[in-house]
Amino acid sequence: RAKATGIARTELYQPIAHDQAKSRFELEADLRHAIEREELRLYYQPLVDLRTGRVSGFEALARWQHPERGVVQPSEFIPLAEETGLIVPIGRWALNTACRQLAEWRTRLGRDDLMMAVNLSGGQLVRDDVVDAVTQALEAADLPGDRLKIELTESVIIDNPKRAGAILERLKALDVSIAMDDFGTGYSSLAYLQKLPIDVLKIDRSFVSNMFETEDSYKIVTAILGLAASLGMETVAEGIETVAQADRLTDLACHVGQGFLYAKPLSAADAETYLADEASA
Ligand code: C2E
Ligand code: MG
Ligand code: MG
Ligand code: MG
Repeated sequence: RAKATGIARTELYQPIAHDQAKSRFELEADLRHAIEREELRLYYQPLVDLRTGRVSGFEALARWQHPERGVVQPSEFIPLAEETGLIVPIGRWALNTACRQLAEWRTRLGRDDLMMAVNLSGGQLVRDDVVDAVTQALEAADLPGDRLKIELTESVIIDNPKRAGAILERLKALDVSIAMDDFGTGYSSLAYLQKLPIDVLKIDRSFVSNMFETEDSYKIVTAILGLAASLGMETVAEGIETVAQADRLTDLACHVGQGFLYAKPLSAADAETYLADEASA
């Protein structure tokens, strides 16, 4: 069995870097088929109104159920999708799926107060007609634009300020709202907050998790809340894991909370149970 021995030998002498390149190559090949094989899933993490404690919407977060590797997290496959251009079909799939899911909950559960937040990455902005993608997703789901929130990071804007600005204006014309994700971690100039039609600041999880551990984090949280208040923007704190964090953020007049304290990202079925439990509580 010369062939089998050959494989065993190559594997034995593969340097680690080569192994990683090979597995990356395989992962990329697999990702090309992930949509048609229906291996991609959206999970939904509740966004909680801190004043009322009620769910005001969900953030859609992608997961890849790989047949051999199990669940692959977005931190692994989104960068790969960006580099290969697969972010275009994956991004359109996420927009369509999230809009359809919210539309279904609206009709079946009567929850037309809920919002859906969908992440948009740099590659989508550069390689795809994002406004067209959003328009189509809203139309296909028969969802009003004011129910959709697009989340983007500072780097997406910094890399293409002109294009980003033009696209955001066109999204606003569809009544879609815009959230600045992971705020405080990037390099964006504060001038963008005024120049661009940004409705929501999402305080990065790193500041929220450390707000009682390091004084600087606490000061950054209060500074972001002050800045947002003076610019008339909504605020969301991501990564809330303790009651103490939730209570203090509520006292500081942060509007919305998101984090494991409330729920991890949930399958559509579990998100629905979460809504039902809340309604009967
Ligand atoms: P993000 O948009 O900042 O999403 C929030 C991340 O924080 C999620 O990680 C969520 O699971 C995690 N998280 C929320 N609350 C807590 C908490 O209390 N504790 C901890 N430890 N983590 C918490 P996830 O799902 O792994 O997503 C990572 C990133 O991948 C997202 O960061 C987003 O940038 C990107 N991503 C996910 N889905 C998509 C997608 O459909 N399209 C695009 N373009 N990017 C996506
Ligand atoms: Mg996000
Ligand atoms: Mg975030
Ligand atoms: Mg984040």
